[in-house]
Amino acid sequence: MMKIFSLLALLGFMSCSTRPEKKHPPLSAKAKFAFMIHGGAGVAPKGSQTPEQEKAYTEKLTEALLSGHKILQGGGSSLDAVESAIRILEDSPLFNAGKGAVFTADGKNELDASIMSGSGLEAGAVAGLHHVKNPITLARAVMENSPHVMMVGEGAEKFAKEQNIELVPAKYFWTKPRWDILQEMIKVEKAKDKSGMNSLRATPANRFGTVGAVALDSKGNLAAGTSTGGMTFKKFGRVGDSPIIGAGTYAKNKVCAVSATGHGEYFIRLSVARDICALVEYKGLGLQAATDEVVLTKLKALGGDGGVIAIDADGGRAITFSSEGMYRAWIDETGQPQVRMY
Ligand code: ASP
Repeated sequence: MMKIFSLLALLGFMSCSTRPEKKHPPLSAKAKFAFMIHGGAGVAPKGSQTPEQEKAYTEKLTEALLSGHKILQGGGSSLDAVESAIRILEDSPLFNAGKGAVFTADGKNELDASIMSGSGLEAGAVAGLHHVKNPITLARAVMENSPHVMMVGEGAEKFAKEQNIELVPAKYFWTKPRWDILQEMIKVEKAKDKSGMNSLRATPANRFGTVGAVALDSKGNLAAGTSTGGMTFKKFGRVGDSPIIGAGTYAKNKVCAVSATGHGEYFIRLSVARDICALVEYKGLGLQAATDEVVLTKLKALGGDGGVIAIDADGGRAITFSSEGMYRAWIDETGQPQVRMY
């Protein structure tokens, strides 16, 4: 069964290459749930990935998508669907989250994540983690089992221990492709600035693979989550948009759920995820118009790039990105998984 889904997804991916899918009609009245995931903006340039690499991304995205979809199909919650899909992507070295996190300027992996439930605007976020295998699960624990919204660094990891959340040695996150990218960036940055502490610039090479999911469940609850290793060569202690509620993640019932990826500093300054939902809520904009306005107009004008996935209260979907590509997957109106990269 899984193989058939993977094949269908692969065929879907191969049959459509250009961006973006502008029309995502709301799901029919019968389909009472919706699910979409992303695997980050900043995809390697078209044609530079081998068919095997593309297949590996397609299969992992499909696996994550189907795990969340299955939960929703069985009447499960949007939060469970979001967490389940993100955990699968965090466990894969292909994505810049969990196992495949990129490196900081001083050669460490510092992980950030957040999750939000649209039903009561509950939210949980974690940042600057070095030992938590699945940061999205810790973010959810902060939301559900603490009086707080955000916990960082050592304190967050102490809380993870209390919650029996799996901790791993820091070296678990070491992967050669990410290490090689850091070495390349160190060379480039040192050539630009002798101090080696030049400003962080977004290039397809230094950030790709942040993961996120948005879901609407059969009870009408929206949820969103995002998990990342941030940007290669980020300074120690730098926190991006992914764990910032309202910037990288936002969900509000009857309005929308958003997960973002891109150059985080800009997403924070524009409160991208919240701004999209505010345009839907206050201005009555359609979801696609709202995501386009924030990502293609406001974000671009400020000099940032990246993308978002979003779902509204009717299960309508929107995807917008200003980067060359964005890994993304969803279940279409006929119930088939769809995966796209460019
Ligand atoms: N938004 C993430 C950050 O700035 C990076 C990404 O999405 O690729 O930390």
